[in-house]
Amino acid sequence: MSEHKYLGLKAELLTEGVWATPDALKGVGSEYKEQNHGLFGWDFEDHVGISLPDDFLLPDGTVVQFRKKSRSPYRVIVDKDDLILTNGKENICEVKWFKRPAYYSLQTSSHNAMVKIGQIGGQDCLFFCYQNYCSHFSKKEECLFCNLVSTSKTYNSVLKKKDTEDIGEVAKAAFAEGMVKHVLLTGGCFNHEKEIGLVGEILKSIRKHASLDRVPGTILPSPAKSIDDVKKYYDTGIKAIGFSMEIWDKKLYEAICPGKSKSVSHEAFINSIRCAVKIFGAGNVYGVFVMGLEPKQTFLEGVREITELGANVVPFVWSPNPGSKLQGHRPPTSAWFVETVLEAADIVDDANIPPGTKNHCYKCDGNSLLHDALRLKGVE
Ligand code: SF4
Repeated sequence: MSEHKYLGLKAELLTEGVWATPDALKGVGSEYKEQNHGLFGWDFEDHVGISLPDDFLLPDGTVVQFRKKSRSPYRVIVDKDDLILTNGKENICEVKWFKRPAYYSLQTSSHNAMVKIGQIGGQDCLFFCYQNYCSHFSKKEECLFCNLVSTSKTYNSVLKKKDTEDIGEVAKAAFAEGMVKHVLLTGGCFNHEKEIGLVGEILKSIRKHASLDRVPGTILPSPAKSIDDVKKYYDTGIKAIGFSMEIWDKKLYEAICPGKSKSVSHEAFINSIRCAVKIFGAGNVYGVFVMGLEPKQTFLEGVREITELGANVVPFVWSPNPGSKLQGHRPPTSAWFVETVLEAADIVDDANIPPGTKNHCYKCDGNSLLHDALRLKGVE
């Protein structure tokens, strides 16, 4: 077996999509964890009215995001009571859906469905989107890969406004079940001061309800304007912070993220990351990218420069998803992703940055390959 077998398979599944037979989908949404579209939709096709798994497990523990594509050669079928992934010609391996968290069926004390407030990403990451809105859409300057508005309209599956007490109650219930190790908090782009205030209230509530001193996990806010702002985020009690730079190459960043690049320059992101490393510590800061929309060379330059600052990198594998301006386009080949991410893993490993996996790990991430590539090097 190739040492990259499951990394390559995950890259294939993320770029070619996957489908499943009705038999295989039995129990998704009741026994097994379903997609709830907390922020973006990552499938190649919308699937209103059909519960699909959020993600699934390969035999070596690799977590793969389920990206629906009904014409994909990859299909999950049932064979003798097991879920088997096939490529249409042969069976590849057994896969497993994740158990549906018990709290998905509970309500908060203000009678809101908990699943509409926070969802589990992968195996162990509790995700809260505190703002399902982004100002760039109203000016038609949204990032070309983003389908936030269309996802929200298509599925209307989560609460747009989430009460901070409700968020705390969900965190309590999710941590009490034992599978959650980290949280991930993010929102679209909005007023900076308001965002810091809101994040402070949310973290206060999570710490109170889940009885945590500091919260293991990551916040992905709009870029902080100053070191004082970064300190304010640190003081909320979250352990790690990340900034979504999206694209490293400056010109491509401006073209692909027309609105965002007007409000936050490439340099501003770097300054935020530099400040954040000083406050949160090396390894507890992330540069977040969309991988597959720029050349390998510029992407790897970004990985090199970010790690030289003492930060880690999370590159999500681009999906040309419905409702985004790039709907219907094709991502690079899975071989490109594997080759590029293996080089990125070498750069990160050589930089000797603390891995930060207490705040974000390969089990959180069905849609990134870097954690998996680092795991092959023994970094977990
Ligand atoms: S900043 Fe870009 S990626 Fe983020 S929500 Fe707005 S349009 Fe989408």
